[in-house]
Amino acid sequence: MSDRYAVIGNPVTHSKSPLIHAEFARATGQDIDYGRIEAPLDGFAQAVERWRLSGGKGLNVTLPFKHEAFRLCARVTDRARLAQAVNTMRFDDSFGDNTDGVGLTRDLSDNLGVALKGKAILLLGAGGAAQGVVGALLDAGVVRLVIANRTVPKAEALAARFPGATACGYDSLGNERFAVVINATSAGLAHESPPLPKKLLGKGILAYDMVYGRETPFLAAARKAGARTCDGLGMLVEQAAESFYLWRGVRPSTRPVLAKLRGS
Ligand code: NAP
Repeated sequence: MSDRYAVIGNPVTHSKSPLIHAEFARATGQDIDYGRIEAPLDGFAQAVERWRLSGGKGLNVTLPFKHEAFRLCARVTDRARLAQAVNTMRFDDSFGDNTDGVGLTRDLSDNLGVALKGKAILLLGAGGAAQGVVGALLDAGVVRLVIANRTVPKAEALAARFPGATACGYDSLGNERFAVVINATSAGLAHESPPLPKKLLGKGILAYDMVYGRETPFLAAARKAGARTCDGLGMLVEQAAESFYLWRGVRPSTRPVLAKLRGS
């Protein structure tokens, strides 16, 4: 029987993870079966336990369960501990990791050709997605990392965990120029944009939205202002590749899968 994995979240019907992992498995000759589990909002731990007892080998965890997954794992990596969130569970050794950060930095560096070392970055949002990427951005050599959030104390609490990051609200973003502006908010899902001063987006800047598969109002404004724009599909594929590696010990190639998802 194939080794079984799944993505667990709520909602989860939209997830592209089963398609991505099926492509990785085919390309690497790994015999896996990868499905979707929609857990009740108050029944995550029970759903995980059912999956484990039925022989499941591991899980990817998505909204809104990454913090709960962190608390369920007996052993976590440093990057998961810093994020206080787990998106990859492996049951053989009750292990948890967070691959979102490395997914983002690999997409920026390997797919988009953006050297992060020495750059100033503005990160919008302080929820689960932002928490997962701060450590990886700093590890990649970013010299200045500003976290802006609608609820400022959340940005402050996040920055306090990472020496090298600072926090503010949108209205106190001054005249500073950032090489990359990363939208890690869920505003785009509601066809909204964080209230960003227009002058922060323009020629020579990369505007990156973690939401994928659509041009969010943030990306549309950035494109109109002359910035280079990109959605978060590459991050999704890269974080999945890291999860696949953690489970199977084989690193799949991501470019063909990303090209296929983009329909090219
Ligand atoms: P979350 O924990 O619910 O946090 C949501 C964040 O968005 C908070 O910072 C919130 O600000 C902010 N926000 C929501 N609506 C806003 C608005 N209208 N204006 C300004 N800020 C707003 O969600 P999450 O887990 O961080 O996920 C955020 C997004 O990232 C999701 O859309 C998710 O799909 C995406 N994501 C993509 C990938 C990928 O691989 N591409 C990976 C992870 C996540 P407050 O704190 O003020 O409420």
